[in-house]
Formats: sequence, structure tokens, C-alpha cells
Amino acid sequence: MADQTTANTVGAAGQNLTDSPHYLAETLIKNGVKHMYGVVGIPVTDFARIAQGMGIRYIGMRHEEDAVNAAAAEGFLTGRPGVALTVSAPGFLNGLAPLLEAKENGFPVIMIGGSSSRHVVDMKEGEYEGLDQMSYAKDFTKESFRIDRIEDIPLAVARAMHIACSGRPGSVYIDFPDDTVAQTLDKDAAAKQLWVANDPCPKMPPAQESIDKALDLLASAKNPLMLIGKGASLAQAEDEVQAFVNATDIPYQPMSMAKGLIPDTDPHCTASCRGLALRTADVVLLVGARLNWMLNFGEGREWNPDVKFIQIDIDPNEIENARSIACPVVGDIRSAMQMLNDGLAKKPFKASKEWLEMLAADTAKNDAKFGPKENADTMPMGHYNALGAIKKVYDKNPDLYLCNEGANTLDDCRDIIDIYKPRHRLDCGTWGVMGCAVGYAIGAAVTTGEKVLYIGGDSGFGFDGMEVETACRYGLPITFVVLNNGGIYRGDFLNLGNDGDPSPLTLTYEAHYERMIEAFGGKGYYATTPAEVEQMVGEAVASGKPSFVHVQIAEYAGKESGHIGNLNPKPVVGPLADSECTKYPYKEGAHM
Ligand code: ADP
Ligand code: MG
Repeated sequence: MADQTTANTVGAAGQNLTDSPHYLAETLIKNGVKHMYGVVGIPVTDFARIAQGMGIRYIGMRHEEDAVNAAAAEGFLTGRPGVALTVSAPGFLNGLAPLLEAKENGFPVIMIGGSSSRHVVDMKEGEYEGLDQMSYAKDFTKESFRIDRIEDIPLAVARAMHIACSGRPGSVYIDFPDDTVAQTLDKDAAAKQLWVANDPCPKMPPAQESIDKALDLLASAKNPLMLIGKGASLAQAEDEVQAFVNATDIPYQPMSMAKGLIPDTDPHCTASCRGLALRTADVVLLVGARLNWMLNFGEGREWNPDVKFIQIDIDPNEIENARSIACPVVGDIRSAMQMLNDGLAKKPFKASKEWLEMLAADTAKNDAKFGPKENADTMPMGHYNALGAIKKVYDKNPDLYLCNEGANTLDDCRDIIDIYKPRHRLDCGTWGVMGCAVGYAIGAAVTTGEKVLYIGGDSGFGFDGMEVETACRYGLPITFVVLNNGGIYRGDFLNLGNDGDPSPLTLTYEAHYERMIEAFGGKGYYATTPAEVEQMVGEAVASGKPSFVHVQIAEYAGKESGHIGNLNPKPVVGPLADSECTKYPYKEGAHM
């Protein structure tokens, strides 16, 4: 523990010298970085200590994947890249999957990886954890850099800030080799060279012609629909999007991480009648949502065969990724929505009453069908009534950041729990990955200082669950809720052989996940009824302390692959019918 407590100015390495760790920390701070999430070891332990001593809040995590996810959550919530730190080779490699996920999701994040001296790695001499990390990172990020000289530190940080934030945001890797870590620079020269990235997320307004064309197309529509994606959340375009809805009455469909951009309870929201809305809309305004697998590529039974799309996206490469787009609008969403709002003075349009009434009637019908399931007293509980009980707590705490992962726990939670504020729901994202949401919960709690609710399935939680220790160590206001059905998808799958082992999908149904947090000083609860769920989650959230509610649901609750079972190719040769694979034969009613 050398000099970190006094090292709050560049120059701690000597009277007139600074060194790379101090200079990098100083540059990050000047660029507005307040937190760093990581796992220390050779050669970056001192860098973390120094950064902490200089005022960056350092969050020591238990796995690099979670550290990068925490930093990515910070990026999603603020529009500025979160920063993660890893050691060389294995630590670095653990960070690659979430870097690629962040690139896919468009979350701005910078990962700094300590690495070994170039010459020993390049000659393949057998260095400790020697790996050409920058080259590996290229395919997993928007861009990767290596700092070979201490004087390049401000350049590396400025490049990383611009690339992480601008255009479609994403991930950047900075390689920090140990021979650079050891370099020094004259203090005055260092101070002179330091600069702050200017306007890393610039406005990029679209062409006026594309806006005019979009408004003409919308005015010609019988059933116009707006589809809001997480690009609109990233763009922080809530005011402009809300103003457009107010002015035009256009109904909208929120994608998962766009929920809450406008409160889900707004009468224009078509979340409860998605099927009908997509099947009957004739002009669809895509606001930061890709026509990827989640939207069936804009084709097929889900869509009106004559639908025309207007696509607002900052990335021109995204236009017509899967099908023809009648009106591309390339630019940033805030500018584009502002221009659409302004254009309404000359080219006004309003969604018709008949269209809105048709959607409202379908919403009412679906709510009447699902409402009783969410409020049922059926025992053992299923996903619907367990989540229905949590919804009651969430409705009283609409400021809670919700981080969600799982299969059925993800799909049903997205449908059941309304979100009321922008960027308050973080989940498995474009790839549907497991093992992201505990990291997201930690990033959200650190970034905002607000309370966070994690809701995961027992399988999803298993990937990143060790981070409950991190939550306890830093006293973060996170309530973890795990819905345990004892397996991947559900817990009652059978071993089709006769060796007596659990099936490939089976986990421990008789578990007590809440005891994990008790091991680290947090408070655990075990709930078996909806009333207990509501009471215990309510109490845990109110405490504002690290807390954990294990929710025991039925072993047979849930469907294989949740709502995306259709993506599962079914082997032609049995016995793999659900009824032959499970203890409790699957039937529609059993999904609860
Ligand atoms: P979802 O999963 O919610 O449907 P996607 O991740 O598929 O959303 O799509 C988000 C889109 O938003 C991406 O194509 C991305 O390029 C775009 N995007 C991100 N930020 C902005 C922005 N500030 N302005 C315009 N488009 C953006
Ligand atoms: Mg499960």
C-alpha cells in the first residue's frame, strides 16, 4: 500500500514524474468516470488501488463477466461508458462475452485489461498468462486499442469515449500491458497532454426529406403503430417520444428495455394486445428497434403482409437488414423525433378512434384472461401468481430499477410487471443471455444510488449469483428474488436413460437460495404463498439493504424455452414429446 492515499494529483511516482496507473486514473476522472468495476490481479492491482485513492469508486466483483455487465448497465443508464477492469488472459477472456453482448445491445462500455509485456508474448516465450489480447478483442468489440506508450493514455481514453458513445453505442477494449504500466512521464508534460473527449455523443439529425416522407406515410395509414426499442431508451428520447404520442394519439408497442420510456399504463400502449397490433398495423414507425429475430424479421404470420416500415436508426448499416423498408430515417432518435414533432404543424395526422378502440377492446379481453391467473391463490405457486404478487410491490415502488433474467421468469415478468420510468428495466437483451442481470443490478445500484429489484429464475441466477457477496460487501440496496422451480425451464424433467442421474435440465428443487445472502450478512426470506411473496418482497425492498427472497414455485411451472420454444428444433426420433420427458405431463393449463 504505497502512496495511494496521498496520490490525488498527477505526479505521485516521484517529484517530477507521474506513472501510467496514476496518469490513466487521472485521465479517466477528467473524462467523467466515477466508477470502475473489476477483479484485480497481475498487473493491475496497483492501478485499482491508485484509482480508488484518487476518487474513483472501485467495485471489486467476483467474476469479470459480472464486472463488465455492471459497467455496461452504467452505460445504458447514463449514455456514458461504464468502465471495467480485468487481469490478463483468463480474466480478460471472461470479459469478452459481455463485451460482445454490450456491442450487440448497443451499451457503451470500456474494458481495460492488464496484459503481459509485448515482446515476450509476441515471441511466444511462455509468459505468465501471456496472450495477444488486443487481437482477440477485435471481434468482440466496436474497437480495441493497446497503450504502448504512457503519453498515449489521453488519446486512448478519448478514442474509447468517442467510439463507445457515438453512432450505435458499444464496447471498447483498452489493452494495458505491464511494460506500459511501469512507464513514467514528466509531470508537466503529462498535464499538458491531458485532454477531455469533446462531445463524444454528438447529435446526428436525419435529412429533412426523410422526415417529410415519414410524415406523409404516417398520414396515409389506416392503422399506424409506433414500435419503440431500446435505442430510444439509449437515446434518452422520452420527452420527444411522449410528445409525439400526445400530438398524434399513435398507439405504440414497447420492446422489453423500452418499457417505461412512456409509462406502461398509458392507454396508447399495446403491450397487452401485441398480436393484434402487429397483425393489423399498416404503417409501422420503428424507433430504435431492429427487425431481428425478436420481431420475426418484420415478416411472417406475426405481421400484416402489406405493412410498410419507417425505420429510425443511427446506424445506416441496419436499414433493410432483413426486408424492404419504405422510409429509412438515418439519424439520432432525439433529433428525429423532435423533427417529426415539428413537422406535424405542416403535416398533421391522428390515429383513428376506430383503431384505438379495436386495440383497447383486445387489451381488455386479454387483461380479463390473465388478471385472474396473476391473482390466483393456486398452490404451489406458478410464475403468474408469484410475479403477480411482486407486481403489487412494484406498483407501490415505481422508482425501483428492475433487473430480470431467466426463461419463463423473464418472459412472464416482462408481461406482468408494468414499468413507469425510462431505463428502469434491464434484462437479457438482444441475445437473451443468462448471467447478466446480477451484474446489471450492481451497476444500477452503484450508478444511481437507488433501490434495485433483481428477479431471476434459479437457473439464470446460478450464472452470476456469487455477486450477492459483492452486494453485501458494498451494502448495496438490492433485493434479489429467485423463483425456484428446480431446473432449467422447469424442474420435473426425467432422465431418459437409467443411470439414476438428474436430467440435463434439473437443478436442486429443495434449495434455499436465500441462505446464500445470509452467509454474507444480508437478510434472507423463504416464501411459498402469494401473500408471503408480497409481504416479504415488500419488507425487503423497504429495508433498502441487501436482501433475498427465495420464492418456491411448482416443479412443473414453466414451459421449455419459455416463450421462444418455437426456436427449438425438435428431433424427429423420440421419445422426446414433453409428456415423455416430464414427471407431470405438460398441458397448456399447467403453465402457470
Ligand atoms: P430492441 O431489442 O429494443 O428491439 P434493438 O437493440 O434491436 O432494440 O435496436 C436498437 C437500435 O437502436 C439499434 O439498431 C441502434 O443502432 C439504434 N440506436 C441506438 N442508439 C440510438 C440513437 N441515439 N439514435 C438512433 N438510433 C439508435
Ligand atoms: Mg428454473
